[in-house]
Amino acid sequence: MDYFEPKTITEALSVLAKYGEHANVIAGGTDVMVDMKYKEEPGCLVNIKKIPGLDTIQENGASLQMGPLVTIRDIETSRLVRERLPLLWESCHQFASLQIRNTATIGGNICRASPSGETLAPLLALEAKAKLAFRDGEKTEAFISFFQGPGKTSLGSKGLLTEIEIPYPPKGSHGVYLKHAVRGAMAATLACAKLGAVYLPIFSGYAADAVATRLQDAEATVLITADAGNSSLQDVRIALGAVAPTPIRATKTEALLRGRSLTAALVKEAATLAASESSPITDQRSSAEYRGWIVEALTRRGLEQSWKAASGKEVV
Ligand SMILES: Cc1cc2nc3c(=O)[nH]c(=O)nc-3n(C[C@H](O)[C@H](O)[C@H](O)COP(=O)(O)OP(=O)(O)OC[C@H]3O[C@@H](n4cnc5c(N)ncnc54)[C@H](O)[C@@H]3O)c2cc1C
Repeated sequence: MDYFEPKTITEALSVLAKYGEHANVIAGGTDVMVDMKYKEEPGCLVNIKKIPGLDTIQENGASLQMGPLVTIRDIETSRLVRERLPLLWESCHQFASLQIRNTATIGGNICRASPSGETLAPLLALEAKAKLAFRDGEKTEAFISFFQGPGKTSLGSKGLLTEIEIPYPPKGSHGVYLKHAVRGAMAATLACAKLGAVYLPIFSGYAADAVATRLQDAEATVLITADAGNSSLQDVRIALGAVAPTPIRATKTEALLRGRSLTAALVKEAATLAASESSPITDQRSSAEYRGWIVEALTRRGLEQSWKAASGKEVV
């Protein structure tokens, strides 16, 4: 296996172009090293950690720009993220163990494209964008189209994620990140991959102890903006993780809720609709039906909690 430590993005891109699908980028290595141990070794490893400038968090007007080498722990300990992007902060706070958070990068979490990747549903709800570099130029793409399937992104094998741009939510927005897990922080969502007609657990190659700590059924990120009088929902965003081949936005549910006053009956209708927008699987740990109920419960709870935070009132 060949190994490279490029010092610039251009250098990294030319190695990727040369080795094509036999090359593997490595950042923190918490996914790549497990794959190398339990699956196949790549033809070449491209370690991007020596490229300067990819590990900063910067405010830029109404958004925050993050390098892909920012670690989950950097995010968890950033006051700026905690104050301005609490949904992303919460997902990083609940992410694995301290050891993993110290090493794992946000870029690795994104490019792994696991349907259960902890930061992905918050990034969808926040309408974040990816800056991608290819040999023939750069492009910026919203994450909603960036994720194309389990382990698949619009980067292909020849591109690099070079920046994540996260707009601040509108003033007066409130939201929650909720995950249903067997064991709190050391549980990651039980992700599933649809290969042809069959869904497979994506972590099947992991060490048994790692798999044992990763039992989780679903996650939901809800972000609402109430109108000036706190009487109706001006905007609502709902992103779901681990219940479809990619993280998804529950767009029909959002449309149902937008502009309406939140009542218990509407919350119930929305939660049922959100479950129908997901496409969870049945596997050895959980049934599709159960996962659907979890989506329903998380959506209901997310709407109720966000509404309480926005208006100070319970949904009745
Ligand atoms: C014990 C354990 C617990 C875990 N718990 C969680 C959890 O709770 N939640 C969760 O979401 N994940 C969890 N993970 C998975 C993993 O830690 C995360 O996905 C992590 O964010 C990956 O980041 P990394 O820097 O280690 O990525 P790497 O392993 O270095 O890379 C991951 C993938 O991204 C690609 N890549 C990385 N950076 C770039 C880039 N800039 N451009 C293009 N491609 C790139 C790599 O080629 C590779 O395919 C866990 C893993 C382990 C081993």
